[in-house]
Amino acid sequence: MKIGIPRGLTYYTYYPFWHAFFEALGVEVVLSDKTTKQIVSDGSALVVTETCLPVKVFLGHVQNLLDKGIDIIYCPSIQSIEPKIYNCSKIRGLPDLVRNVVRRNYLLIEPTFDMSEKGQTFEECLYQSVVPLGIKDRKKVKKAADKGWETQHLYEKMLKYGIEAQKAISCAIQGKEEFIQKNPLDENKINIALISHGYNIYDEHISMKVIQKLRKMGANVYFAGELNKEEYMQGFENLNTTLYWANEYEMSGAAGYYMNDAKIDGLITITSFGCGPDSIMIERMTRYSKQYKKPLLNLTIDEHTGEAGFITRLEAFTDMIFRTKRVKKLKGIKQKEAVH
Ligand code: SF4
Repeated sequence: MKIGIPRGLTYYTYYPFWHAFFEALGVEVVLSDKTTKQIVSDGSALVVTETCLPVKVFLGHVQNLLDKGIDIIYCPSIQSIEPKIYNCSKIRGLPDLVRNVVRRNYLLIEPTFDMSEKGQTFEECLYQSVVPLGIKDRKKVKKAADKGWETQHLYEKMLKYGIEAQKAISCAIQGKEEFIQKNPLDENKINIALISHGYNIYDEHISMKVIQKLRKMGANVYFAGELNKEEYMQGFENLNTTLYWANEYEMSGAAGYYMNDAKIDGLITITSFGCGPDSIMIERMTRYSKQYKKPLLNLTIDEHTGEAGFITRLEAFTDMIFRTKRVKKLKGIKQKEAVH
């Protein structure tokens, strides 16, 4: 038995769990191909222009799986991951959208997980995920979930080390662990916090390999995944805001924390055109970046974003940070000389 998982949206958060969980139950997991121009175009053709890019990409991945002959698609409806902390409406309604716009012959497995509702626990969501596959033994499901958590924890541990999601996913499902060494004190480098949702920055086609580009330009890149819950909460406090949307952790939480982190020289945010929650959060981040005296560059992406303009803006921003760092260093040397 095969189940297809689209390589988009919550894939970057939960795939290691799902992979280990289904495989432990003897279900083969088939992943859609890496994002291509064709996948983006297939997904975009199904919805109105104003739909955010990650949703268009997700729909393209559903089509990609169906084209590969996979006729069971897994698409849970993840409403809230903590009581009264909700995902954005597009993620919450994702299965409804898929069912209504991808009109082909397939089975859509669409369990609901909602921590704000009684009876919609994660355990129940898992059970509802496998009942359509004919698996009804709750003990077996529980055992598979334990395997899922083991893999998921390994994945999250690697994210904390600053390893990119794609690499961390591949290591975690093989049961391997990797580290990365960053030296924030290296004077020849700048330290940039990259603030965005995992599906915007870890998808190399959508992000136009922004992480590799920044590293080539001489930057150490820091991600939201490296922070723990207390640090996110500190971030909200720094921005004088509270948490409402689940996806605010990796946006306002991370931005607020890094803005007040002395090692960080600047922040780059990447948001998708058509994203309501991000547009509100960005406005606050921009305001507070001035208060914390941290340069902030916001890049908005959609399916028409050109790579040349994207690179130019990254280069201009990193050049400006390198110059500021040099000036600060020179001032420091002159002050020391004046003292002696
Ligand atoms: S948070 Fe924004 S980018 Fe992400 S799915 Fe929702 S609307 Fe789209």
